[in-house]
Amino acid sequence: MRFDEKIGIIMGGASGIGKAVAQGWAARGGHAVVVDIAKEPGGDVVAGIRTAGGRATFVLCDLGNLEQIDDMVRSVAETFGRIDMLHNNAFAPWKGIDAHALIGDVSQPNWDHVLGLGLNSPFRATRETLAVMSRQGGGTIVNTCSEAAVRALPYIGPYSVAKAALTHFTKLVAREYASQGIRCNAVSPGVIDTPLIAGAPLDDEFISKIPLQRIGRPEEIANVVLFLASDLASYVTGEVVLVDGGHTL
Ligand code: NAD
Repeated sequence: MRFDEKIGIIMGGASGIGKAVAQGWAARGGHAVVVDIAKEPGGDVVAGIRTAGGRATFVLCDLGNLEQIDDMVRSVAETFGRIDMLHNNAFAPWKGIDAHALIGDVSQPNWDHVLGLGLNSPFRATRETLAVMSRQGGGTIVNTCSEAAVRALPYIGPYSVAKAALTHFTKLVAREYASQGIRCNAVSPGVIDTPLIAGAPLDDEFISKIPLQRIGRPEEIANVVLFLASDLASYVTGEVVLVDGGHTL
């Protein structure tokens, strides 16, 4: 699996799953464009890739701001002349007091934040990137959904809804753009050891409900993202791959 001469945008590439994807993409010859709101960790990821002999660039962007997304995609296309892979992956939970709430208690800012980052941002980045990929005759898009997309998870309703919509969006893009040589797939992680789940109550009882008896590592999601983005998956489109240790079985 090689990505030589290919340009990949990894949204939320400063941490967790996105960081592992950026590292894996660059280790296989691709140029990783790490897009994140977190400047220092993003710069560290890029520095680490370069030290290891890979190619990477950091782009500061608040993916909650749709105009910034347009500018980011345009500037990457102008700088590198093409975009071969887009990984829609960034997310940060709502930090307000109703972060965990029944739908009847979800505030509008909570709903708007989660649907904004979880759905509007991938839509906008995809829309802008599709124009570039259509012009160049192809490309691949991989979205990070969640097991919360296949189960109606209580107390994180906006997240569950956003990720479910993103799976449908994945299939829609796949269907509409296949004729232009563009594949669109998604990965749906279970519980993965990243800063996103810091503080989550992962006790023995919870772990015992995962058939593989542990939470996952970011690299285990990245491996599937990279496979879907690669030519090895040349006949795969519109697919949403659950990578959850069997949690949803
Ligand atoms: P993470 O917190 O390690 O990484 C998320 C990255 O997104 C961070 O670098 C963060 O700075 C960036 N980000 C957040 N808001 C941003 C914004 N407004 N603009 C630009 N960048 C922003 O989390 P992770 O676990 O690696 O999550 C990656 C994806 O995986 C998310 O879409 C998440 O919903 C999904 N996911 C994670 C798990 C899990 O258990 N960790 C499970 C299912 C799905």
